[in-house]
Amino acid sequence: MRLILLGPPGAGKGTQAQHLVAKYGIIQLSTGDMLRAAVKAGTPVGRQAADIMARGALVPDEVVVEIVGQRIEQPDARKGFILDGFPRTVPQAQALDRILAERGLALDAVVELKVDEDALVRRIESRVAAMKARGEPMRDDDSSEVLHRRLAAYREQTAPLIAYYRRHGTLRTVDGMAPIKEVAAAIEKVVAGERKASAAPRSRVVAPKSKRTASKPSEKSKIAAKTGRKARTGAARRVGAARKSARAARKSAARGTAARNRRR
Ligand code: AMP
Repeated sequence: MRLILLGPPGAGKGTQAQHLVAKYGIIQLSTGDMLRAAVKAGTPVGRQAADIMARGALVPDEVVVEIVGQRIEQPDARKGFILDGFPRTVPQAQALDRILAERGLALDAVVELKVDEDALVRRIESRVAAMKARGEPMRDDDSSEVLHRRLAAYREQTAPLIAYYRRHGTLRTVDGMAPIKEVAAAIEKVVAGERKASAAPRSRVVAPKSKRTASKPSEKSKIAAKTGRKARTGAARRVGAARKSARAARKSAARGTAARNRRR
């Protein structure tokens, strides 16, 4: 199962991803977490990303695409993954399509957590104020000003992905303002639906009514229905015909032998 959780900062993608990790045993790939780890470790990527992240802007596409491409290669990603915070731009989504196609993989669904931005801002600001009051450690980008910049980046650069994935037919939207448990249940329903769809055998795909032709039963299948014997497919008919001519050849050979014996 390969999923993308799409939504603005604070929509609950991380919380829902953790729930899916526990439920399905697949890994969560959060580019935000990976970049924060790189910043903490002081790697070249981390040094490049630190200021950008603190400003609430987006790290260059090629940097995150490289990180995600390498991470997807790891053995623990084989069973599936939930992308949280990636892709965030259309070029990132196109790069992801290429990365997956090269590995013969595809996305199962893109789940959009639809939220009301004003309510979201109030929710995050009150959460940040409560954390401050408790003296809890804060993220560098946990200020109201940076939050507004991150939301602007979402609107301008990430929201176009909704139309992108809608066109691809993979977009599923759930109400991200509902209580956490209800959001989780809605996502599970989406996942269950996708699993069912991908498990369905091809032969059960039914053509739309307009395309179905009411073909008349053939004489052979009418006889088969009467006698209870199965009407045979083309391949079965060809096998049957070959057996019949082999039997006929054996019979005529036997007749020839008998005639020769009589003459002797
Ligand atoms: P997040 O924890 O997902 O909110 O990400 C925190 C910050 O990391 C973002 O504000 C960006 O600066 C950076 N970041 C995370 N993911 C991406 C991405 N896919 N593309 C560009 N920048 C990203």
